[in-house]
Parts: sequence; structure tokens; C-alpha cells
Amino acid sequence: MPHHPLAPSQVERYARHIALSEIGLRGQHRLLQSRVLIVGLGALGSPAATYLAAAGVGTLGLIDHDEVRLANLQQQILHRTETVGSSKTDSAARTLASLNPEVRLEIHPRRLDRSNAMTLMEKYDVIVDGTDNFGSRYLLSDAAFFLKKPLVHGSIFRIEGQATVFLPGRGCYRCLYPEPPPPGLVGDAQDVGVLAPLAGIIGTIEAIETIKLVTGKGEPLVNRVLLHDALAMTFREIRYRRNPSCPVCGDHPRIRQLQDYNAFVGAVAR
Ligand SMILES: [Zn+2]
Repeated sequence: MPHHPLAPSQVERYARHIALSEIGLRGQHRLLQSRVLIVGLGALGSPAATYLAAAGVGTLGLIDHDEVRLANLQQQILHRTETVGSSKTDSAARTLASLNPEVRLEIHPRRLDRSNAMTLMEKYDVIVDGTDNFGSRYLLSDAAFFLKKPLVHGSIFRIEGQATVFLPGRGCYRCLYPEPPPPGLVGDAQDVGVLAPLAGIIGTIEAIETIKLVTGKGEPLVNRVLLHDALAMTFREIRYRRNPSCPVCGDHPRIRQLQDYNAFVGAVAR
């Protein structure tokens, strides 16, 4: 039995999880004690943070360096018309605090980079990738591996999305994508169109995977990439394994510290 019984208002707020045999009081306690870091408060971070706050994750870390723009509102459901111009961290904190004031919010209004990634990430149990660029994905993957933290990955492009979970020692982003795409081949997120609710699907999958990791329930999306095509409305799964020659998590690693990721993603095939 849990050491600290839930307050009556918590029993009511979290009733649907408590009633669920797969989570129950024990799982809800684990959620309340967990610390989850959301990197990027845009299209994917919005649904992920919203569901994790509503679910009762004890502490949510929120990282983003950007301001809310009008063009964000179509997909980034954390933000509101009245917060256009404010920082995304402040805007997100406002929405999440009104949804569930019990969640402790730790605000990091800065860009995650190689100088701060290890320090910021080490304080959390699970890292959720809500970023929209390849440099950040490699940075998160390498840092999560070095810190031995689970990383929940999601990405969207136009009408397609994908999600997977990287557990240290069982494969990383580099095992899936050893090289970044040539610059310009896959446009920057700001320039490319995206079907707005697609972000909700993939970001929500990231929230579910996070809850599964925290509570230890279910079969996490490890060594599987879930690929979704929103126009065809299909989901398919591709299995992958840790690459023994991966430069980070392979048998003979060559990379043992964080790199210059801007150079890595920008210097290929230009
Ligand atoms: Zn790897």
C-alpha cells in the first residue's frame, strides 16, 4: 500500500485511472511521484504535456526557447490567442496550471543544447521528444543514452508521423537513422505544411508511452517504430534492433560525449 494516501480531491480527480486495474492506486502513486521532461512545447509537446498534466504526473519539466506565434495555434494546442507573443514556457505553464494545479511545473525557457542537456535531463525519469529538427533529435538521443534515461520519440512530417521508445542499451535514434537527411531535402518545420490533428495523435502516443514507462505496465514501443499515415489512416510497425556498429550505443562506441549537432546535421551532402 502507498505510504501517503491520496487526498479526497485526488481520489476524485484521478478516479478513472484508479478504477483501471492496469494502473490503480499504485500506478497513480507512481505517476504522482514521477518527473517527466518535455523538450519542445510545440505540436507534439502540446498534447503530450496536456495529457501528462491531466493524468497527474508529479513534476513536469518544460523546455522551449521560442515565443508563441499566431501560426502555431493551429497545431500547438497548449497555446492560446491571448498568449501570442509570450514565451512558450509561460504560455504552456498557464494552460497546464489551470488544467491541473497539483502538477509541479519546472520551467526552462532556453534552447536545449550540448552545454546544458546533461544537467537539465539528469533530473528527470523520462524524457519526451517534442522537438521538430534533426539536430535536437540526435542531441536528445545521445544525451539520454549517456544518462541511461528512457527517451520517448515522436515526429511528424506533412501527413505522416512516427513514434518509438529508446531504452538505453536497446537501440537509439542513431541505430534507426545513422545519418541525418541532406539539408534541404526535408524542409524545416516552419516551412512545411502539416495536417494539424496529426500532432495530437503522435503526441498522445508519446504521453501513453510515458505513462507505461512510469507505471511499468504494458508493452512499451521499444525496438518498434509505429508509422502512421493520416490520409490513408493506416498504422504499421517496423521492428528494429540495436545496431552493434552504432557509434554511440554499439559494441565499440566512438562517440562518448555530446557533439556539435548543428554541424552534424548541416554538414552532410551540402
Ligand atoms: Zn544506437
